[in-house]
Amino acid sequence: MQLLDGKYVSEKLKEEIAAEAAGVLATLGRKPHLVAILVGNDGGSETYVASKMRNCEKVGFKSSLFRYDDSVTENELLEKIDEINKDSGVDGLIVQLPLPKHIDPEKVTERIDYRKDVDGFHPVNLGRMMRNLPCFIPATPYGIMMILEEYKIETAGKNCVVIGRSNIVGSPMSILMARNAYPGNCTVTLTHSRTQNLKEIVLQADIIIAAIGKKNFVTADMVKPGAVIIDVGINRETSEKTKSGYKLYGDVDFENVAPKSSWITPVPGGVGLMTIVGLLKNTLASARGNIY
Ligand code: NDP
Repeated sequence: MQLLDGKYVSEKLKEEIAAEAAGVLATLGRKPHLVAILVGNDGGSETYVASKMRNCEKVGFKSSLFRYDDSVTENELLEKIDEINKDSGVDGLIVQLPLPKHIDPEKVTERIDYRKDVDGFHPVNLGRMMRNLPCFIPATPYGIMMILEEYKIETAGKNCVVIGRSNIVGSPMSILMARNAYPGNCTVTLTHSRTQNLKEIVLQADIIIAAIGKKNFVTADMVKPGAVIIDVGINRETSEKTKSGYKLYGDVDFENVAPKSSWITPVPGGVGLMTIVGLLKNTLASARGNIY
């Protein structure tokens, strides 16, 4: 077993991004600029947004955060998005999910100008991705593609089973792995909670991408020896043993699956760190006008 080391790859790629950000500053006279909107006080969301902002500063981007209470109305939020859309000094805009129940995430996603949609959730970007056109690829799948590429993982002709079909991870991941490109050219099976015989299907996989949101869901008896394992899951549990007061677990039973695998991403230290790189790369591409 070998680790697909998100810490190593993300640090390496962030150095490259920092060098390119310096180039943007030299030519545009300003830094690439990412704006985040955070609604409410969800612990996980707070951590993710803080990490995104911190990483922006690290690579020489400007970052701005707008915070709202849970009580913010949908209209207020949409108006703020309109204002940021019009600001030519902003390259990327993300709204951290989940949102409170009274706000429709679809409306919010579609309201963001697709040319600033560095999360890659807007239907225009997803449609362009389907057609292999330049676009912002959703940050987590983008990060996974980068780590596969870095370790030169063979994908052509392989059986790839994606577990989970969310709009932000599983579905775009399945499209990317099936594209006529590298990484890609896999025979992809997209599975979900209504899939029958999941274990038998996953046992056929050369590459497993687990994005379910259930601790240790993928167990060793579901894994073919030598499979490549990408664990997207981030499951937080409170812990008295850590400084932060919680501990993170993946969707894969790492301890028992790792010895059977050829390559595997750890949690933490895997896909989560690569997601940030995906976001930074999209923001940089936006600032440089590489996509639109
Ligand atoms: P969602 O809750 O949106 O989707 C979960 C998917 O898992 C659904 O498609 C669901 O099926 C499927 N599922 C649930 N139970 C089963 C089951 N028993 N068998 C098969 N499929 C099942 O989650 P996300 O995609 O947003 O996130 C998944 C995980 O990844 C979470 O832990 C999340 O925290 C993490 N995550 C990590 C990121 C990172 O940067 N590392 C980024 C984003 C997410 P159905 O559609 O039928 O309900």
